[in-house]
Parts: sequence; C-alpha cells; structure tokens
Amino acid sequence: MLKFLVFNGALFSVLFLHGWRLGRFWRVPFALGVAAAGLGLIFGNSLDPLVGVFYLIFACLTVDAGGRFRGWVAARQTALDEEIGALSKKLGSEQERLDHAARETQAAHDGVEQISHLYDKIKEMSQSMDSVETLVIFGEAVARYFVFDQMKLFFYDEEAQTGTDPGQCWALRFSDCQNLLDRETFLKDKARLKGELEALDRKILEAVFKYGRVLYAVNGSERSSAGTPDIFGAAPPFVAYPIVIHKKVVSVVMVKGIRSTDLSFLSILAERFVSEVQRVKLYQKVETLAVTDGLTGIYVRRHLLERLEGEMDRCRRFGFKVSFLMIDVDFFKKFNDLYGHLVGDVVLKQVADTIRRNIRELDLVGRYGGEEFGAILVETDAAGAFLIAERIRLAVAQRAFRAYDELLRVTISVGCSTFSKKNDDLSLLVDAADTALYEAKRQGRNRVCAATELSLNNEYNGSRRFWNETRKEEEP
Ligand code: GH3
Ligand code: MG
Ligand code: MG
Repeated sequence: MLKFLVFNGALFSVLFLHGWRLGRFWRVPFALGVAAAGLGLIFGNSLDPLVGVFYLIFACLTVDAGGRFRGWVAARQTALDEEIGALSKKLGSEQERLDHAARETQAAHDGVEQISHLYDKIKEMSQSMDSVETLVIFGEAVARYFVFDQMKLFFYDEEAQTGTDPGQCWALRFSDCQNLLDRETFLKDKARLKGELEALDRKILEAVFKYGRVLYAVNGSERSSAGTPDIFGAAPPFVAYPIVIHKKVVSVVMVKGIRSTDLSFLSILAERFVSEVQRVKLYQKVETLAVTDGLTGIYVRRHLLERLEGEMDRCRRFGFKVSFLMIDVDFFKKFNDLYGHLVGDVVLKQVADTIRRNIRELDLVGRYGGEEFGAILVETDAAGAFLIAERIRLAVAQRAFRAYDELLRVTISVGCSTFSKKNDDLSLLVDAADTALYEAKRQGRNRVCAATELSLNNEYNGSRRFWNETRKEEEP
C-alpha cells in the first residue's frame, strides 16, 4: 500500500509540475503517456478498464491543474507588478512634486535675496550725493544679474552746451562693476573713469536728443521705441536712457552689450538710476544757487568766508599757504550816477568775470559786498598774491566793458593779505586785506597794496603792516 501511495504521489507530483511547465498543447498527450506508463507498471494486465479510464482522466486533470495553477500565479504576479508599478508611479510624482516645491522655495529664497539686494542698492543710490558714485552703484547692481560690455554716463554742461556733444563722459566696464569690494578706494581715482565719446555714442546721443526718450537696439532685430527710424540696424546692442530736467536732456546713460531678455529688468533699475541722477543734479543746482551770487555768478560772501576758513585750517594743520585779496571798484557811486544802475550792474558782472579769468581754477572768487569782491588764492604767498592782484588790476583797467552798446572803463583797488602765524585768524586776515585796500584807496586808487609780514616796523597808522605800492594812475 505504502509503495502504491509513494509511487502515485511521485507520479502525480511529476504530472502537476509538468502541467506547470508545459504549454497547453503538450499537457494532455504528456499526461496520457505518463499515466498509461504508470498503469502498466502498477497493475500489469489485471486492470479494470473503468479504473484505467478514471485513472487517465485524473492524470489529465492533474496536469491541467498544474497549468491552471501556473496561470493563476502568473496573473497574481502581473496584478502585483501592476500594483507596484502604480505605487512607484505615485511615488515618482510625489517626488516630482517635492522637487518642484523645493525649487519653488529656492526660487522664492533667491527672489527675496534679489529684492533685498536691489533694495540695498537703491537705498545706496538714493543716499549718494555724487552722480559718478551713483553710476558705480548702478553698475554693481546690474552686474550681479547679467552681463554687459560697458556703461557710459554723459553729462551736459547746461550753460556751455553746444549741439549734442556732452561736457563729460564717465565709463565703467563690466569687470569694473564685478569687483567693487571697496568702492571708496575705487572712486578715489575718478579720473580713471573718464570715458571717450565714440562715433556710435554720438549717433545715439543725437537720436536721444531728437526723440527725448529711451532708445535701444538689441540682437540687431528689435529696436527703439515706436517711431524711431531704423538707424541702428548693424549697431552692437545698446540701450540709452535720457535724464531730463525741466524738459531738457541734462544727461544720458548708456548700457552696451546687453541681451534683449535682460532689457525689462535693466529698465527697472535704470529708471531708479535716472531719477537718482536727477535728484543729485537738482541738489547740486540748489546747492550752487545757495552759494552763488545772482548777479555775478560768483560765490556769495558767506560761502567765500567759509571756504577761506577751510583753507586757513589746512594752513594751520599742514603748513600750506593762502592769500586773500579784497577788491573794490573805484568811484563806483559816481559811475552809477553817470551811467545808471543797470549799466553799473552789467559792468559789475564783467568785472567779476575778469577777476575769475585772471585767477587759477582752484582759486575762489566771491562777491563780498556791493562793488567789492574777495579772492582766495590757495598755495600762494605774499609775493605771488601781489603779482596776481596786479594782474587783475591791469586786466580790469585795460578792459573796455560793453554795456548797452557803450564801451566803458572802470578801475579797481586791491588789498592783499597772507596767512601767517600772526595772521592766523579769519577776521585778522580779512581785516588786513581790508586795511590794505583802504590804503590803496588813500593813495589814489587803481593800485594794489599788500599787508605783509615784513611790516613789523611799519609806520602806517601805528599798525604792524607796511604798504607795498603799485604805480599810480589817472582816476577815471
Ligand atoms: P571808492 O570805492 O573808490 O572809494 O568809491 P565808491 O563810490 O566805489 O565807494 P562807495 O562804497 O561809497 O560806493 C559804492 C557804490 O557802489 C554804491 C553803489 O551805488 C554802488 N553799488 C553797490 N552795489 C551795487 C550793485 O549791485 N549794482 C550797482 N550798479 N551799483 C552798486
Ligand atoms: Mg568802490
Ligand atoms: Mg565799496
């Protein structure tokens, strides 16, 4: 019996496994073959045909069950695979969502950083009182976001403006803007930033003046605001913003070598820059107006004395020299009486101009009172001051002043004083020049008198000064 069970167990296991392994077509012949062989072996010739048939059917069912079981396992596997596939897909999209969120967070972070950087730069620009410094800050801000070749800022001298050629040009290269860790040191040598007016610049400036608005030409295809002719077809990419005050273009800023994609962002910054330059320019104008005499265009007395005090301070600290001239028009009351106040005004203006032309640029001249002027001669000793005073006196005496179609002449008297240890106070220095002027008047006018240090034994009025006379000339 045991032998029967073991044999049949093994036989039906083999059938089941082959049902698993074989294709549907081979299962039945295989099962029949194996079962028949089994029948022969077990029962020999003594087999009941009915039992044999049942045996064979059972063998076929076993093989089929093996095949079906395999199909069921395969279906389970597929379902499982599909489930895993769906899950991993879900996981993938979740990961993607997380990545996207991370990117968005990073972008928001960058955005915040960008905005705070821009805010800092705009604040710096708004605190600057110098247009070139403002340009450098603008350059730093722009260079952080994109590449360009060069930035140029053109200024027009409002009074001397002729055509579209600017009075000044400042230029910054991209590399300058990238490494400005120490802006103060960079700006110390501003002369380095002086730029040249190139042929293309001139063409652009002419167009900016003509149309009075932003001009750009990028990538050779897109160009300027509507209505502007196609004159920059082959030009390298640029954008130019006019800076307008009281409907007048006072300055133009140009950025060269930009990409069209950067244009809108650049414009946001450029607009800020333009308004900051406007502010600086207006501030400078107000400041100039506050220290400038309305009639003559030279400094007012208060400013002149403030500057003299500053120069004297430098003398005290560093041993520099400074001289002061007090200049007064001779017999101006008579002149006014003769020709009228309006003519007097025109002449005063020209006298101021003559004085200014006869001193160096670093010297300062101001209107001290009605027809009195003061001049600060820096780094000038008594002898030098005397020579300059004499040069001014001669220039005035020799000039025919044109006023309302009349050519008129006036003369001046000048008193000079020079900073020294004994003359180291503002009022002492001014008084000394005033006293010297009084002496020049006393001696007959149209002359220069100097109060010098050699005056220790001087005889004049018991004071410590003596008088250096210039030649006496006829009164007008
Ligand atoms: P001197 O200095 O040679 O002693 O004689 P002066 O006649 O110039 O001297 P004084 O100081 O007495 O007169 C100054 C005159 O200058 C008085 C005034 O008529 C004239 N004056 C002062 N300010 C102005 C001005 O702004 N415009 C004109 N036209 N005249 C002025
Ligand atoms: Mg006078
Ligand atoms: Mg006077």
